[in-house]
Amino acid sequence: MKIVVLKFGGSSVGSIKKIIKVAEIIKTYKKKKYNVIVVSSAMSGVTNELVKKSKGISENFSDEEYDVLVSSGEQVACSLIAGRLIHEGFKSRSWLAWQIPIVTKGLHKNSRISLINKKKILKYIGEGGIPIITGFQGIDNHQRITTVGRGGSDATAIMIAKFLNAEKCIIYTDVEGIYTTDPNKFKKAKKIKTISYEEMLEMASLGAKVMQPESIQDARLNRIDIEVKSSFSKKSGTLITKRSNIINNKMITGISSTHNDAKVSLIGVKDKPGVAASIFKPLSKKSINVDMVVQNVSPNGKETDLTFTIKKDDLNKTKKIILDNKDIKFRNLIFKKGVSKISIIGVGMVTTPGVTFRMFQALASQKINIQVISTSEIKISVLIDQRDTKKALTVLHKEFELDK
Ligand code: ASP
Ligand code: MG
Repeated sequence: MKIVVLKFGGSSVGSIKKIIKVAEIIKTYKKKKYNVIVVSSAMSGVTNELVKKSKGISENFSDEEYDVLVSSGEQVACSLIAGRLIHEGFKSRSWLAWQIPIVTKGLHKNSRISLINKKKILKYIGEGGIPIITGFQGIDNHQRITTVGRGGSDATAIMIAKFLNAEKCIIYTDVEGIYTTDPNKFKKAKKIKTISYEEMLEMASLGAKVMQPESIQDARLNRIDIEVKSSFSKKSGTLITKRSNIINNKMITGISSTHNDAKVSLIGVKDKPGVAASIFKPLSKKSINVDMVVQNVSPNGKETDLTFTIKKDDLNKTKKIILDNKDIKFRNLIFKKGVSKISIIGVGMVTTPGVTFRMFQALASQKINIQVISTSEIKISVLIDQRDTKKALTVLHKEFELDK
């Protein structure tokens, strides 16, 4: 049975007019003889409104009730889509997560899907029906409603594709696909035709908001091909797939930039075994995510400088934790906002020497100073002054032939 999962994001179902358009898209797959399963998010803005309401009730709104509340937007969108298809003469109905069920594990507000019962859905599509399934929500083994994290209806779609053995999972959104860099920040950004899970994961973790990183991880683990495309355009989108399916290969696939990082430097830290651990342990306990780290070798073997980056929002918390930390001694503590992390990403760099050099040289040619460097197998990141972001994107985009 040829099954396709179509997922519509909030912007695709943002108004009645758009929902009518969505029904048109669904019909085209029906015409191509696909068995269609639809997953929808809430109409755009709705989930945020619901979150706001919960905060009005209490700053410590119960996690269980949060999930019941914020998952309600999906119910509305799904019934409207089903209602439109019924109006057009199709057999369709909405399915809430508990009716299937979509079973989740883990904490409220951030559960993961562990099991989807396929029986009822398979029977329904066997009878020619088009199920419209609520994204984002699940049910745990205490029969309580759960949600899978903001932006989580992608994860629902991907897991449905896995459990129902779908041929394709198509994510409909308001952009035409994944771009070489953020097209809002950089006009020359180009749509990427195919990208590997690993690269996409890096791009998403680095702030490409098109998909939630957890969902990409789900797709990678389950080898689900995903196409990301716009519901407002007929153009083909971006295919996210496994590395071995990609043939083109530029050395670099994409470039990302962040604007919400801050840099922390501890100058003259007493250098002894365990010092880094005693700095980072209390930070991790308070869920502060430390990103790039550099430690200088100490010229005299006694003192060292340690620099790392965190999210700007965590700055005050971090300051307090470090100043309260009795286990470390240092001469000076420096905080700097206004930094940006620029990363070049590409599986192609694994096999091509000289990428690092080309990146540094390109930045140097624009007199951009590099403050911190970190690398992984498929990524090189540098921290620079935020004011240089645009210049850096421009020169790197050109250097790695992404303009073409
Ligand atoms: N409606 C949910 C949210 O806004 C889930 C999603 O959009 O994927 O986070
Ligand atoms: Mg959304």
